[in-house]
Amino acid sequence: MEHKITLIPGDGIGQEVSLAAARCIEATGVSIKWENVLAGSDALEKTGELLPQSALDSIRKNKVALKGPITTPIGTGFRSVNVAIRQALDLYACVRPAKSYLGVRSAFKNIDLVIIRENSEDLYAGIEYEEGKPETKNLITQIKKDTKKSIRVDSGISIKPISKFASERIIRFAFEYALKNKRKKVTCVHKANIMKFTDGLFLNVARQVAKDYNGKIIFDEAIVDNMTMQLVQKPHNYDVLVLPNLYGDIISDLCAGLVGGLGIAPGANLGTDMAVFEAVHGSAPKYKGQNKVNPTAMILSGVLMLRYIHENKAAEALEEAVKEVIAEGKSVTYDLKADPLDPTAVGTSEMANAIIGKLKTL
Ligand code: NAD
Repeated sequence: MEHKITLIPGDGIGQEVSLAAARCIEATGVSIKWENVLAGSDALEKTGELLPQSALDSIRKNKVALKGPITTPIGTGFRSVNVAIRQALDLYACVRPAKSYLGVRSAFKNIDLVIIRENSEDLYAGIEYEEGKPETKNLITQIKKDTKKSIRVDSGISIKPISKFASERIIRFAFEYALKNKRKKVTCVHKANIMKFTDGLFLNVARQVAKDYNGKIIFDEAIVDNMTMQLVQKPHNYDVLVLPNLYGDIISDLCAGLVGGLGIAPGANLGTDMAVFEAVHGSAPKYKGQNKVNPTAMILSGVLMLRYIHENKAAEALEEAVKEVIAEGKSVTYDLKADPLDPTAVGTSEMANAIIGKLKTL
């Protein structure tokens, strides 16, 4: 069966890693018809828009997309194309596995964590009041009236909404993911001791939802600052983590660091009937066009995508090929060498070639 899939190459290193991933996915033998659409700086150049409607329409139609990283412009009104895509398509669940691969240098071995980040609200809602604006002053006056608390008049304000609806949706998703993937424990990460009405709500909902999984999945909770320390000291004590948006973003980079860096950390953004697969890393603009960075995070995002479209054999074969190439340590990019200046490090497309070569031998 042919799968029609939207491909958003992205910008910065996006083009290089997306092309490498698409080639590896095709080499599994799965029949894919890519629909190429632009978003990010290339789209801005060609269409005058950072996120053209055609990109969203293509994902809505095909239901599945593979997306390269996109630079967030600084100093424009647009917050982030990435966040805009997730919000426009209600891709509420961000799933980021952090898994050890033999041959990747890291302080830990045998890590197998899954971070489930709420993708639709929290400080990413994009509701902000700029310092000095009349509406900001009005809000400061209103807050003083309602709460008797003072905010300095020269403040900017970002709003952090956390709803029962979105909390229950993501927490149920985390428990269902745990059940389906034979995981044992879900840890709810929060800062409910300080933010009682937002993180407190998230935690209360988690405690309620956990009751439905009693006896099947262990429920655990951790305050986010303590969680960062626990993860770098005892990562093996954790299994699936479920977090509000901002903590999820930060903790997933931390977990990528635990298993050897952003070059190997994949991700998926899932809605009820749509999914966009993308690496955890960004567009690393300083490496643009150098054929230098690691394509593994994008290729492993492709593995998650293959599983999503029920091409499990192809997914397993591609993950195995990646594992073997990394374990051999020969045809790998600079970040997977003991010395990043090692002259035997290969480029992005050569590492993809080695993975394709390995697929042929499996
Ligand atoms: P980044 O993830 O792009 O890069 C940080 C560093 O991580 C790089 O300098 C590099 O040393 C390393 N790195 C990243 N990807 C790598 C790879 N594939 N192989 C080897 N090393 C790799 O983070 P940043 O520099 O903070 O962000 C750059 C831009 O990307 C920003 O505009 C940011 O908003 C955007 N961003 C986009 C996404 C996305 O598209 N989903 C995610 C994060 C950041």
